[in-house]
Amino acid sequence: MTFIRKVETWITKSKQTEDGWSQIKPFIFLKLTNNDGFEGWGEAFSLPAREKGIVEIIHNLMSSLSHVKDITPDRFYRESNLIADGHRGIDFSAATSAIEMSLWDIEGKKEKKPLYKILSKDYREKVPVYATIWSEDFKNDEILSSRCIETLSDGYGGIKIYPLQNRTVEQAATCVSKIRDVLGYKIPLMLDLACPKDTNISLNLASLVEEFRPHWFEEPVDGEATRSLKDIREKTNLRIVSGEKQCGLNHFIETLALDAVDIFNPDISGVGGIIDLIKNNQIIS
Ligand SMILES: [Mg+2]
Repeated sequence: MTFIRKVETWITKSKQTEDGWSQIKPFIFLKLTNNDGFEGWGEAFSLPAREKGIVEIIHNLMSSLSHVKDITPDRFYRESNLIADGHRGIDFSAATSAIEMSLWDIEGKKEKKPLYKILSKDYREKVPVYATIWSEDFKNDEILSSRCIETLSDGYGGIKIYPLQNRTVEQAATCVSKIRDVLGYKIPLMLDLACPKDTNISLNLASLVEEFRPHWFEEPVDGEATRSLKDIREKTNLRIVSGEKQCGLNHFIETLALDAVDIFNPDISGVGGIIDLIKNNQIIS
């Protein structure tokens, strides 16, 4: 019989990247240790001012489930859903994501297999990876373009930028045009709008940047606003991406039923856990 002997959590300190480009947000990590000495690591998604709250949920969940012996990711999935009683929210889901991830890590270590071999026989050997270019500070189009080229030379297959960061819609469109000039059309260029409050901003930007063929148009409105997402999707020819701050299957099923997005990008550390992500993939395919 196995049981979790130790629950340890860390919140990392926010700090500047070494090159001074951006501020790294605090991350939440969890380590579970079972009575056989196996350790499992997990990560919880965090939004500002909630880190300690999420850590508290992790510890509360683990003590609520301390009576459950031989806890597996599946068992945890069922038990945590019972505790959630149909109301999860991103903070609860961030906590369950970290715990489930740690339990999967323990499963992998017990079976001496990487997790992808336990979860699927049909796994990919390679996945494309893009780099996000982000800074809180204003960087002019030239500096941003050089940063994109520099980053590509590190081996990334695509670039994502935040054109509305510190820019008007017109300035954002000029920026996208300049970066496209520098990158050419073979490199996927993703645009993340980070949820403008006014959907007209997204619609205006969409019409100005369509000709530069962005690979996708991410969060043109908050992911909860599924009807607005659908409206934007119907009025543009761009691929709409949403889902990184959403959790639970219901949200994704409803968004899918409305045909409001082209691509979901749920965050593995916030959606609820690896099982939720797999179930998500199953409803999509
Ligand atoms: Mg995003």
